[in-house]
Amino acid sequence: MADSLTDDRILIAGGGIGGLSAAISLANHGISSHVLERSSTFSTEGAGIQLGPNATRILKEWGVLERLLPNSVVCEEILIGDGLTGELLTRVQFGKIAEQRYGGPFLLVHRADLHQALLNTAKKKPGIKIALECEARSYEQFPDKLMLKTMTGDMKGRALIAADGLWSTLRQQIDRGAVLSFAGKTAWRTLVDPDHLPAELQGPRTGVWLSSNVHLVHYPVLGGKKINLVAVVDERWGGRSEGWAQEADPKLLLPAFAKWDKRIENFVNYGTTWRKWSLFHLPPLRTWTQGSVTLLGDAAHPMLPFLAQGGAMAIEDAFVLARVLAEHDDDPWSAFRHFETARIKRTARTAYESRKMGNIYHMSGVLRLARNFVMRRSSPRSVLKKLDWLYQKNIEG
Ligand SMILES: Cc1cc2nc3c(=O)[nH]c(=O)nc-3n(C[C@H](O)[C@H](O)[C@H](O)COP(=O)(O)OP(=O)(O)OC[C@H]3O[C@@H](n4cnc5c(N)ncnc54)[C@H](O)[C@@H]3O)c2cc1C
Repeated sequence: MADSLTDDRILIAGGGIGGLSAAISLANHGISSHVLERSSTFSTEGAGIQLGPNATRILKEWGVLERLLPNSVVCEEILIGDGLTGELLTRVQFGKIAEQRYGGPFLLVHRADLHQALLNTAKKKPGIKIALECEARSYEQFPDKLMLKTMTGDMKGRALIAADGLWSTLRQQIDRGAVLSFAGKTAWRTLVDPDHLPAELQGPRTGVWLSSNVHLVHYPVLGGKKINLVAVVDERWGGRSEGWAQEADPKLLLPAFAKWDKRIENFVNYGTTWRKWSLFHLPPLRTWTQGSVTLLGDAAHPMLPFLAQGGAMAIEDAFVLARVLAEHDDDPWSAFRHFETARIKRTARTAYESRKMGNIYHMSGVLRLARNFVMRRSSPRSVLKKLDWLYQKNIEG
């Protein structure tokens, strides 16, 4: 439980990827913060997460990457194929190339490991307080302070970073018109033993298999001990889901693979405990900031997961936000405006490209044939070059 606070810290609502990253990044600039997390424990749920070089480069600088590496797999390549025929269409090479070109590896990790590495780093930093069971409800601003109403009492701070995720409560106070809409897709997730994967797909690689109403992504996590399997299915309505714990009946999923290449269909059948997560879309907000309050991560710019970038963008936000706050130390109002200007275009582009990628993955009929034709002709080098804008070092503007 949180104590009622009367100090000058930056309050951070939400102790997920974005909230903990913000606390670490602020501490690196000598700025104290208080992270307020709604849950009673830090999450160990969820399955895998892919971290592009734009995220791992920052984690390296923060000392988080070295904690993460023992339990993760450095991705050598992404294979993209047609799920119906099993034909491999193209591959994107990462491995050492990603390190040399972008300054960080493409990493495959379990969410719980990422969270733990962030938490352990945060706990070692001076100036970071963390409170559990502290749900933020609303805020009130004054010229010299900010009051945050929580379930356990009022807290006073210098400014507020709302990193309270996709279903952000605090977002509503900044933009009442922001309404999430169901994206017509659900993500099904499970973990499978690596031996069940066809031999040619095993090892440090991600596989992405496409078809008209479902696509499948698989990659190793937990240092290679398990394969994280994600199936994204077109559905009319999957129900609102918060957290990663909603169990779902595989009998409703598996028929979607009936016409697939047998090797891949068989592999999907090894999944036992499936959990389901509905995907939501939110058009870019008009603004993320209001005086001494700013949104960060999914609260500011939720995105569909088809570029595997939501978590990475939260980490980038944290990196930039701490820099501008340090530069405008006495003036969070001005710092937050600069932060928004620095980040809004890049995150909007990433959200747009992610959505577009989802449509490309689920193409059918003649569009599917055209997509496959283009992919077959794309060299690994040319595919990677198209991702330069995303993985490059310039993450502002
Ligand atoms: C199927 C799927 C696959 C994905 N794969 C990838 C991937 O491969 N790579 C990638 O980079 N991203 C991926 N993402 C996106 C990524 O999970 C999110 O973008 C990321 O978790 C956002 O971090 P966040 O800190 O903003 O929000 P969250 O991680 O959701 O954290 C929000 C935190 O705030 C807490 N909270 C909520 N409300 C309150 C409140 N009122 N007061 C206090 N605390 C509160 C919550 O308990 C939670 O701990 C994927 C998403 C999905 C759905």
